[in-house]
Amino acid sequence: QSQELSEAQIDYHAALQALVENGTRMVCTGRMHTDRICRFESLCYSTEAEEFVYFHSNSSVMLPNLGSRRFQPALLDLSSVEDHNTQYFNFVELPAAALKFMPKPVFVPDVALIANRFNPDNLMHVFHDDLLPIYYTMQQFSDLDLEARLFFMEGWSEGVHFDLYKLLSNKQPLLREELKTLGRLLCFTKSYVGLSKITTWYQYGFVQPQGPKANILVSGNEIRQFTKFMMQKLNISLEESSSEEYIVVFSRTINRLILNEAELILALAQEFQMKTISVSLEEHSFSDIVRLISNASMLVSMHGAQLVMSLFLPRGATVVELFPYAINPEHYTPYKTLATLPGMDLHYIAWQNTAREDTVTYPDRPWDQGGIAHLDKAEQERIIKSTEVPRHLCCRNPEWLFRAYQDTKVNIPSLIHVIRQTVKSKPGPKKQKWSGSLYPGKVRDAKCQASVQGTSEAKLAVSWQIPWNLRYLKVREVKYEVWIQEQGENTYMPYILSHQNHTFSENIKPFTIYLVWIRCIFNKNLLGPFADVLLCST
Ligand code: UDP
Repeated sequence: QSQELSEAQIDYHAALQALVENGTRMVCTGRMHTDRICRFESLCYSTEAEEFVYFHSNSSVMLPNLGSRRFQPALLDLSSVEDHNTQYFNFVELPAAALKFMPKPVFVPDVALIANRFNPDNLMHVFHDDLLPIYYTMQQFSDLDLEARLFFMEGWSEGVHFDLYKLLSNKQPLLREELKTLGRLLCFTKSYVGLSKITTWYQYGFVQPQGPKANILVSGNEIRQFTKFMMQKLNISLEESSSEEYIVVFSRTINRLILNEAELILALAQEFQMKTISVSLEEHSFSDIVRLISNASMLVSMHGAQLVMSLFLPRGATVVELFPYAINPEHYTPYKTLATLPGMDLHYIAWQNTAREDTVTYPDRPWDQGGIAHLDKAEQERIIKSTEVPRHLCCRNPEWLFRAYQDTKVNIPSLIHVIRQTVKSKPGPKKQKWSGSLYPGKVRDAKCQASVQGTSEAKLAVSWQIPWNLRYLKVREVKYEVWIQEQGENTYMPYILSHQNHTFSENIKPFTIYLVWIRCIFNKNLLGPFADVLLCST
């Protein structure tokens, strides 16, 4: 790998001269450190100082030029987790003339994407914080193609899921520690720094208790484009129809166990008349798990990172998430949020163990595996008595960890009952036609005509044409919403209409100016934009 970074690949003297003469050039997108991604030419990194270096020359560019606001708190987030104070990126500045006194730069010829992985040992974090954001950051910038090289600066070793990161580009990703072996001063010819947060759907509770992000911007379509890419790279073909339907139980083998798993598997098989198989990260290869999940009708699993694999479920499948005793499913919804993203087309069911006798706790384990022996007696007793973990911040709440690492004997009748409330007949991937929801355009040629009858009555005839895109669409139901507002008033009268014209006479006064707002609605909930407001004088 270091071979590829060798001086032979590029004209070293030209590169060095360009660096000295042009310095570093940076142009960024985004208005704040939390939504910024920067493109650099000749960004350097000192492996001794472990700092990025920006070289000033007569031709260098720095946009945004923030002055000392660059440190309030940072230029940008290096991971996709918003505003986390361990994940900030910045650089130190030097005049290009200082290069004379510095170690000889080693140039990185590949286009680089420089970022932090957030928690590469946890599969949920791997997909949600790293793989999806890296994939879509690469889609955003055309020179971040499969020949680009990823640089992970968080300082972790490869981690157990490194093979997944390798799928994103043809070049081996490099870790911060490895940079030392390449040279004392590395200079990236072209690089992008930072990750797009546009695909993330969950916040982990660093400033407020965890939950779905406030403004989710991703749909099942983009998730599935990504999983399609990953499956191609893993050489897994999407099997079509005919094959047998089955249920997958995704089990954990180290902690948070299902204690009666064999019984559970048998019961599911019997109830749904389907083959039911069990997989785990410890016993199956990642590819095998993806292959199985991508054709499954139902995925059943304890709450936990392995459930992020529902990314790979086919449309129409059902996710069943099991929660240990005293853990309120509504308070921990990374997988529910994923399953219910618009266009994911998955059914989601949560089951919680509500029977104290069916839970096994581990008060004597180390604190990070849920032990509470280090707490004072009163606090231990309070936790043991409590029937629900109160909402809390990430990441070391002992009561949460205590409950999260319980093992559970699943009450089969109660589980089947909650599944049956959602899955009436056979669960499973429906052969669904593409049901992407398209929104109407504006209605066109809106007109109004007023007529006055006497001194107290008036009518307003309003007409319009269908939105332009409707003639190319098959839409089950087309309705129009019309708001009539007297000029200067805050309130309006709303109407839902089926036709393209209507004569309003209720509450219409003579010699008054009305504002008329019209929009089209497809299938009850697809609301289009309002057309330009109509001014109508009676
Ligand atoms: N893990 C696993 N089997 C186990 C316990 C954990 O494969 O029995 C994996 C889990 O999927 C995750 C990582 O180990 O990728 C860390 O698990 P942890 O319990 O810390 O996180 P959680 O699953 O609660 O997100």
